[in-house]
Amino acid sequence: MKGFDSFWEIGIGLWLTLAVSPPGTGNPGLQVTVSNSSPRQGEIVVLRLNDAGVSRAAVSKREKNLPFFPSLTRKGEWLALVPFDLEDPPGDYRQDLAVVFSSGREERREIALRLEPGQFGRRELHLPAGMVHPPASKRARIAAERALLEEVFRKVSPQIKITGRFLSPFPGFQGVAFGEERILNGERRSPHGGVDCPAREGTTVAASDSGTVVLARELYFEGNTVIIDHGLGIYTMYLHLKSFQVSEGYEVRRGEVIGWVGHTGRGTGPHLHFGARILGERVDPNQLLGLSFD
Ligand SMILES: [Zn+2]
Repeated sequence: MKGFDSFWEIGIGLWLTLAVSPPGTGNPGLQVTVSNSSPRQGEIVVLRLNDAGVSRAAVSKREKNLPFFPSLTRKGEWLALVPFDLEDPPGDYRQDLAVVFSSGREERREIALRLEPGQFGRRELHLPAGMVHPPASKRARIAAERALLEEVFRKVSPQIKITGRFLSPFPGFQGVAFGEERILNGERRSPHGGVDCPAREGTTVAASDSGTVVLARELYFEGNTVIIDHGLGIYTMYLHLKSFQVSEGYEVRRGEVIGWVGHTGRGTGPHLHFGARILGERVDPNQLLGLSFD
């Protein structure tokens, strides 16, 4: 139940303030707060800037740039979500923070984070042979779908579209098994990239936040799938749906019904697989549900 532990860590606000002033400048400096300087694999670190003079800011993760976005309610406050993929190697990470003020002045800061190993479970599943080793006739389809998903997650839409905290896809949603090592019919497969919650077939599934539906179609392994682009490289995904009622390109509102729980694609019974990606990195959706954008 590691996902919920980290939920509460964020929820109670373990905010740590980093160096407030650059030494020796006499400048009050930029205030940067870091939600957690030693995240675990699959966790999200939230950076906040509090300065009314900021005109734009970004932080780097590997070669990717993460733009800051304004707080939904607090003027002069900016946020960025730094994702750690569930398979990012543990160790020291240095993020470069670059800020441009409306005066034209620029400031750079280095933010040191230490990534700790995730505490993931292990599960052996027994599925019909055809789902573990799909027939040769399906290989082209599977390869095309994999490429399509990569293409979807590679895109970083420049505008943030969220309109509040991320919502659970349905009341009572308890997503488990993030990062779990999966052994399918005795063979080791890639770890579980999202969370699962069993539910009655036909349970309504709501959009966790506002955004654009960028994928709504039936995929071989994932079944009926909806993916929402929330802007700035943030995506949520809903898998194995019985059916969906949104189409690609639709601007969905936070909490709007997008489809119904089912067991299409590869799975063992009716459940919702809920996934979250930030800049392509697989993060724990329970982390996303615990974040405040105020
Ligand atoms: Zn799943």
